[in-house]
Amino acid sequence: MTTSGLASERSAVIGIDIGGTTIKGARARYREPDTIEERLRRPTRSDAGPAAVVAEILAVIDDLIAGSDVPVCAIGVAAPGLVDEARGVALWSENIGWQDLPLRSLVERHTGRPTWLGHDVRAGGVAEFGSGAAQGANDAVFLPLGTGIGAALLTGGRIHDAQGLAGEIGHADVGHGETCRCGAQGCLEAIASAGALVRRYAARTGHVPAGAEEVAARVCAGDPDARAVWDDALDALTLALSWVASVLAPEVVVVGGGLSLAGDLLFGPLATMLEARLTFQRRPRLVAGAYGDEAASVGAAILARKAARAASETEPWP
Ligand SMILES: [Zn+2]
Repeated sequence: MTTSGLASERSAVIGIDIGGTTIKGARARYREPDTIEERLRRPTRSDAGPAAVVAEILAVIDDLIAGSDVPVCAIGVAAPGLVDEARGVALWSENIGWQDLPLRSLVERHTGRPTWLGHDVRAGGVAEFGSGAAQGANDAVFLPLGTGIGAALLTGGRIHDAQGLAGEIGHADVGHGETCRCGAQGCLEAIASAGALVRRYAARTGHVPAGAEEVAARVCAGDPDARAVWDDALDALTLALSWVASVLAPEVVVVGGGLSLAGDLLFGPLATMLEARLTFQRRPRLVAGAYGDEAASVGAAILARKAARAASETEPWP
């Protein structure tokens, strides 16, 4: 049996998604990395500093390894912000507060297992494009609307990442004048992310909603302030989607993140407004992600296999 055959028959992979508030861990069989067998969630503790976040990540990995009845052969870690996948370095994240952190080698040294490190949105795209809501599409976009907004782009069956710099549609100017966390004005994510809905509703009313879900519930209950911030988000998303449809002509746009849980309140008007804005362009199907808020951890588990294969080419495994 070859080493890769051994890995595929009786081992597991781990996927980690480092979110601004929660670290999500997933363990799956090497053969079926998109089927989670065990999941763990812990607070990110980003207010305690990067060292505390790394300790928390390693603790989640340790617990998932300890709970496995088969050997864990590789680990995938999906990080927010800017990530240098080739060097395995988390370059920068405003939410976590780290800079030039060699996270891949930290995990490899701690666990003794080959590790893949990459970007959270692209990891989510790998899951949704490969076996999720965009399965079978050649041209697709994964657009998670969470704390911020980013996009993973599938063109001609390949993920376009431009050395990790592509997909920053959250920082395209949609023409509202409010200042974004990045320092620019008018950014899509400053008006249409789940985080923006919460912040903008709080600024109008003085009440801080528990999340974008609460803003959505208030829209349904007839709250005019909730309706106003919701409509602003819809307008901005429609404009951004019209650019996406014009430039990339995707067959499908998979909307993920917290906002996608709003269902028809989001998808119904978005499809109608996009239809009104487009003329001859291909209309993308707008669908909710199949993996919900687990797309990035599932994608990280899938991408862990890259690290396992690379390791088995250089040295026998295990
Ligand atoms: Zn911005």
